[in-house]
Amino acid sequence: MTLEEIKAAEAKLLLPTYERNPILFVSGEDVHLVDENGARYLDLLSGIGVNALGYAHPAIVNTIAEQSWKLIHISNLYYHEGQAQLALRLTTASGLDRAFFCNSGTEAIEAALKLARAYAGLKRSEGKPLGTKILALEHSFHGRTMGSVATTHKGKYREPFAPVMPDVEFVRFNDVADLKTKFSSEVCAVLVEAIQGEGGINPLSQEFLAVARELTQSTGALLICDEIQSGLGRTGKWFAYQYYGIQPDVTTIAKPLAGGLPLGAMLCTDEAARAIHPGMHGTTFGGGPLACAVALAVIGTIEKDNLLQYVTETGTYFRNQLAALAKKHPAIIDVRGLGLMLAVELDSADLAKQVVAEMLAKHILINRTSETVLRFLPPYILKKDHIDEAIAALDDIFTEHAPQTATSSPNQVKTGAKQNG
Ligand SMILES: *Cc1c(COP(=O)(O)O)cnc(C)c1O
Repeated sequence: MTLEEIKAAEAKLLLPTYERNPILFVSGEDVHLVDENGARYLDLLSGIGVNALGYAHPAIVNTIAEQSWKLIHISNLYYHEGQAQLALRLTTASGLDRAFFCNSGTEAIEAALKLARAYAGLKRSEGKPLGTKILALEHSFHGRTMGSVATTHKGKYREPFAPVMPDVEFVRFNDVADLKTKFSSEVCAVLVEAIQGEGGINPLSQEFLAVARELTQSTGALLICDEIQSGLGRTGKWFAYQYYGIQPDVTTIAKPLAGGLPLGAMLCTDEAARAIHPGMHGTTFGGGPLACAVALAVIGTIEKDNLLQYVTETGTYFRNQLAALAKKHPAIIDVRGLGLMLAVELDSADLAKQVVAEMLAKHILINRTSETVLRFLPPYILKKDHIDEAIAALDDIFTEHAPQTATSSPNQVKTGAKQNG
């Protein structure tokens, strides 16, 4: 089928949930995708933070091949060797005690929300006053199920599906006073992203996360850090909360966990896990042998290739280059992020849209989130040359779009743009 035929068929046959970019990808290698005409694209989005090891990574390809001859699925009614091994890796990296495996980020959040409610019930049965309310943050994104979407701030995602899960209240981002006002023994969990992803790469302040930790500790409510986008090395540490020196009771991971296969996990303390007993929660597919084997290969590769340090170094270089670009182009009003979770905020949503489209025309994939923010979530194996290529492309685009000042004639602006190419 040609791209045009696929577009026509999808328009007729699929639920219209996405406005796709008109490109048909057929393969990928390293940090590049290849379309049906053989054209290569530099991928700085990696499937929204999923393809941390890029495309066709031998560790992933070989593990899929070998494991699929042994076992793909057995259900959670029997043992296989993957879950305990993977849980050991994840609990060691996170400082938490136990894991529940599922198939996506939204399911990991759903598990965390159910754990918070069940744990509050257990505490009540032990004589502690703990309510059912969940505090989430403005500009948060936690997923699309009725529970996770209830904690997702954007009305467009939540309101058409009302009533979603009740008893959620939103706290203003990084507003410590608002958090203190809204927190009480009615609250069973505070749910945050240490660095908001879809909300525009917004890092929590040290003070806000510290106060959230103190408040939850004072009542026995759970502090849940959603690390689905920021976790597993994306920021240069296994978990972004580790930059804050703060340990949550629960964390959720998914996106890069199994190299592109669907796998999520909720990690929690032994204390919180007291609330869960056999039969209360579960999944048919979650934590299957294939996904677990690939996740072990992904984590093993991150360790073997020293990718946490590499992401830190590469991310610092990328961020410095973006900051230099911001000095040159007034349309860039902020540069944010850690490791390879980076963003530049522009002074206009239209411009942000155009830049994404023009980068695509130059065969570089990025995306726009939160209207005015260009987001970069490249594979961890990105090289300095790729960053230079992206920066040069952005420089060209911003130069083309620069408003012409009284001192520079249109000709000079054009020449400048060409030289930068
Ligand atoms: C992507 C994301 C989710 C949802 O994950 P899915 O796998 O799409 O269900 C939840 N929280 C954060 C922070 C995310 O980035």
